[in-house]
Amino acid sequence: MRVFKFGGASVKDAASVKNVAEVLQQVGFEDVFLVVSAMGKMTNAFEKLTQAYCEQSEDRDIILNEIKQYHHKIINDLFEDNSKLVCNKVEIYFAQLESFFTENTSDNYDYIYDQLVSQAELISTTIVSKYLASSGIENTWIDVRDYVKTNTDYRDARVDWTNTEENIKRSIIKNGTLYITQGFLGRAENGHTTTLGREGSDYTAGIFAYCLNADSVSIWKDVEGVLNADPRYFKEAKLLEQISYTEAIELAFYGASVIHPKTLQPLQKKEIPLYVKSFLHPKNKGTSVSRGVHIHPEMPCFIVKKDQILLSISSLDFSFIVERNISEIFSLLHEHKMKVNLIQNSAISFSVCLEDKYQNFDTLLKELKDKFKIEYFKGVSLYTIRHFTKESITRIEKDNGVLLKQLNQETVQIVIE
Ligand code: ADP
Ligand code: ASP
Ligand code: MG
Repeated sequence: MRVFKFGGASVKDAASVKNVAEVLQQVGFEDVFLVVSAMGKMTNAFEKLTQAYCEQSEDRDIILNEIKQYHHKIINDLFEDNSKLVCNKVEIYFAQLESFFTENTSDNYDYIYDQLVSQAELISTTIVSKYLASSGIENTWIDVRDYVKTNTDYRDARVDWTNTEENIKRSIIKNGTLYITQGFLGRAENGHTTTLGREGSDYTAGIFAYCLNADSVSIWKDVEGVLNADPRYFKEAKLLEQISYTEAIELAFYGASVIHPKTLQPLQKKEIPLYVKSFLHPKNKGTSVSRGVHIHPEMPCFIVKKDQILLSISSLDFSFIVERNISEIFSLLHEHKMKVNLIQNSAISFSVCLEDKYQNFDTLLKELKDKFKIEYFKGVSLYTIRHFTKESITRIEKDNGVLLKQLNQETVQIVIE
C-alpha cells in the first residue's frame, strides 16, 4: 500500500482539486491510502471563527459566511449537475457547527478549537471524495477519528498507538481500494474530536503508513521536494535529491516547514521511504527520504523561523544562574506552552529563543519578573544553517544585527534583529 498526503495548497480551489485527480491518474491509485487536509487556508479561517465564537464577537457569523462561500464556490466550480447534492452533504457539517455554537457549555478554548477547526478537514475530504468519484476514481471515504485514537490534550493530542494500530489493522484492507481520509484529526476516549497540532496531516500519513506497513509515503507539495531553503525567503533554493531520516528529522526539528517533525519517526522505525514531490510535476523525482546517504547533493541548508522572542534572564542580585533557577524557568516556560528553539547560558544570564504559539508571553513575563531581571526582543528571526560554510554564515550575518549565535559541528544558529 502507498500512502499519499495532499495538503492545503493542493486543494485550495477547484482547479487544484482537479489536479489531484490528474496526479492520481498519472501515478495510479490502486491500494492507495489518501490523507487530505483542509482546503487552502481554511484552518486559519476556522481558527478565527473559534476566536470570534469564544469572544462572543459579532464577526462570528461573518467569518462563518466567508467559510461557507469559499467552499460553495469550489463545489459549484467542480460539479456541474450534482453540486446541490454535494452542498447538502457539506451543509450537514455546517449545521453541526451551528448546533455546537448553541449547545456547547464548555469554556475550554482548546477543546472548542478542536471541535470547530476539525470541520475543515471533514468538509474538504467530502468534497474531494465526491469529485474523485464523479471523475471515475472510485474511493472509500472514512472518518479518521474512528481510527486515530488520542489522549485529551486538545490542539496537541498524543496518539494512543496501540489502539490506533489495532483499529487500522482491523479495518483497512488491501484490495485495490482507494481510501480517503482527513489528516490532523483524532478522537479521544471520551468521544470528542482532537487535533494533532498545526500542520499535523503529514503526521497522519506517517501514522497510517506505520500501522499499514506501507511501501511508501508521498507528500505532494507546491515545491519540487525538500529544498536547501524555503523558496519564499531564498530565491535560489536548490533541490535535495536524497536525505536520510536523521537529516530530515533535523531539518524539520529546526523548522523546515515542508515536513512536520513528527512524521518521520514512525517511518524511520519501519524504514518506510518518504517521497516529497510536486503536485504540479508528479513524474519528477522530488526528494527521497530513506536510510542511507545523509544528504545529496551536499550543501548548506537554511532554515528561518520568524516572529521569535529572544528572552534574557538574569538573577536580581547578580548571582549565578544555576540548576535550581533553570529548572524553575523551564517549568514556567512549560506551563505557558512556550516553544523553546534555542538555549544559551552564561554565568549570570540565561537566554532562550521562544515561539509564543498560544499568546501567553505577557503572563509568563509577569511571573518571571517577580523573580528575575528580564530583557527581551520581540519579532526577531532565528536562522539555522545545517552543514554550514563560512560563506553561508556571512550571507546571513551581513546587513543584519546579530543578537546571539551558537555553533556546533554541523549546525549554526543565529538570532537576528
Ligand atoms: P501543505 O500544502 O502540505 O500544507 P506546506 O505549505 O505545509 O504544504 O509546505 C510546503 C511549503 O513549505 C512550501 O511552499 C515552502 O514555502 C515551505 N518550505 C519551508 N521550508 C522548505 C524547504 N526546505 N523545502 C521546500 N519547501 C519548504
Ligand atoms: N489543516 C491543518 C493545518 O493547516 C493540518 C494540515 O494541513 O496539516 O494545520
Ligand atoms: Mg501545511
